[in-house]
Amino acid sequence: MKVLIVGGGIIGCATAYELAKSGCEVALFERATPGAEASSAAAGLLALLGAPTDTTFARLAVASWRLYPDVVRELQARTGIDVEHVTRGTIYPMSTTQTRGDAEALALMPELGVEVLEGKDVQALEPALSPKVRRVIFVKGDHWLNNQRLVLAYAQAVAAVGVELRTGENVSRVIVEGARARAVVTEGERVEGDAVLLAAGAWTSELVASFGMRLRVEPRRGQMIALAHVPPVLTYCVHGEAYLAPRPSGELLIGATVERAGFQRAVTAEGIASLLRAAIELVPSLRDLPIARTWCGFRPWAPDGLPILGPWPGIEGLFVATAHFRNGILLAPITARLMTDWITAGKPGMDVTEFLPDRFLPRA
Ligand SMILES: Cc1cc2nc3c(=O)[nH]c(=O)nc-3n(C[C@H](O)[C@H](O)[C@H](O)COP(=O)(O)OP(=O)(O)OC[C@H]3O[C@@H](n4cnc5c(N)ncnc54)[C@H](O)[C@@H]3O)c2cc1C
Repeated sequence: MKVLIVGGGIIGCATAYELAKSGCEVALFERATPGAEASSAAAGLLALLGAPTDTTFARLAVASWRLYPDVVRELQARTGIDVEHVTRGTIYPMSTTQTRGDAEALALMPELGVEVLEGKDVQALEPALSPKVRRVIFVKGDHWLNNQRLVLAYAQAVAAVGVELRTGENVSRVIVEGARARAVVTEGERVEGDAVLLAAGAWTSELVASFGMRLRVEPRRGQMIALAHVPPVLTYCVHGEAYLAPRPSGELLIGATVERAGFQRAVTAEGIASLLRAAIELVPSLRDLPIARTWCGFRPWAPDGLPILGPWPGIEGLFVATAHFRNGILLAPITARLMTDWITAGKPGMDVTEFLPDRFLPRA
C-alpha cells in the first residue's frame, strides 16, 4: 500500500515512521523542512496543557506519555540524536484557593506521583523560586524534551526506514475522484497513492478546500522566549502563569502566549513582556539572564479544542490527523499508532470516536 502524507511536522513524521515500519510504502511531502512550523516552535512539555482530566482526551495523553520512553530510546538508537528527555518533574505553584483535592485531580495515573509541598520544603526543592511561592503541587512524573531535536530525529528515522522524504514540495491539491482519494498535486506533478493523510497542521483547511470541502482548523499563535541558562538557575520545570522549562543543552524556555492572530508571524512587545513578567514573578533571579532568542509558532486548533483524527467519511482512502492544539508533541506517538492502525487495518487500537472529523462535517 502506498500512503501519501501531507505535512512534515511531528504528526506527519511520526506517522510516516510507524506506517513504514508496518510495511507501507510512504511518501512525505513537506513544503519547507521537517518540523519547520509548530513542531519546532513548541516547548516540548509532555504534560496536559490546559485540558480537562478524566476524559477520552486525557486517556489518549496518558497512552502517549507511556509510549515516550521507548520512542526516545528507539530514535536515539536509530539516529544517534539525544532528544534531551528530562524526567525530573514539574512544580505548579498553588493559588490560595487551590486545595489538596485539586492536586489529586492532576494524578491522571499512578506514575505521575503528585505531592503538595509547603514552606521550607518548597525552597529546599527549588531554591530559586520566589519566597512568595509558599505552596506547590509537585508532579514528579511530568517529563519534557527538546522537540526540535525530536522532530529532526523522527525525520532522520523516516529516511532510514525508506520513506520518500519530499522536502521543499508544496502540495497544492488533493485529488478525489469517484469518492476515493487518488493523488496529490505538487508543483506540476501528480503523485498517485492508495491513501492520503492530511497532517498539515494549521494549514489543513487549505488542503480540504482543494477538494471542495470545508474543515475549520485555525492557527493559534504562541510566542516563546529562551534565556541563556548556564549555569542553570532551575532544576525542575515550573508551571505558573507562564511555564519555565530548563534544557540540559543550556536554555531556559519560557512560554507561551495563546493568541488568535491569524498567520501573523510576529513576536510582539506585549507577548514578550507578559511572559517575562510572569517568569520573573516566579523566579526573580531570571531578570539577570540574557535573552538568547524569541520566536512564535502556529498551533493547529479546532473549534472544540480537540484533535481531529480518523478517516474522512464518504471518501475512501482519505485520513486526517491534526488540531492537536497545545498538546501535539505529547500526542504524537499515540497519534502515529492510531493513524497507522486506521490506514492499514481499518480501525484504531482505542476508542477515539469523539475525535473523528465527522463532528465538523455536514451530515449526508
Ligand atoms: C509556542 C508553542 C508551544 C507549544 N508547546 C507545546 C508543548 O510544550 N507540548 C506539546 O505537546 N505541544 C506543544 N505545542 C503544540 C504543538 O507544537 C503542536 O500541536 C504540534 O506541533 C502540531 O504538529 P503538526 O505536525 O500537526 O503541525 P506542524 O508542526 O505545524 O506541521 C505541519 C507541517 O505541514 C507543512 N505544510 C502545511 N501545508 C502544506 C502543504 N500544502 N504542502 C506541504 N507541506 C505543508 C508545514 O510546513 C508544516 O511543517 C506548542 C505549540 C506552540 C506554537
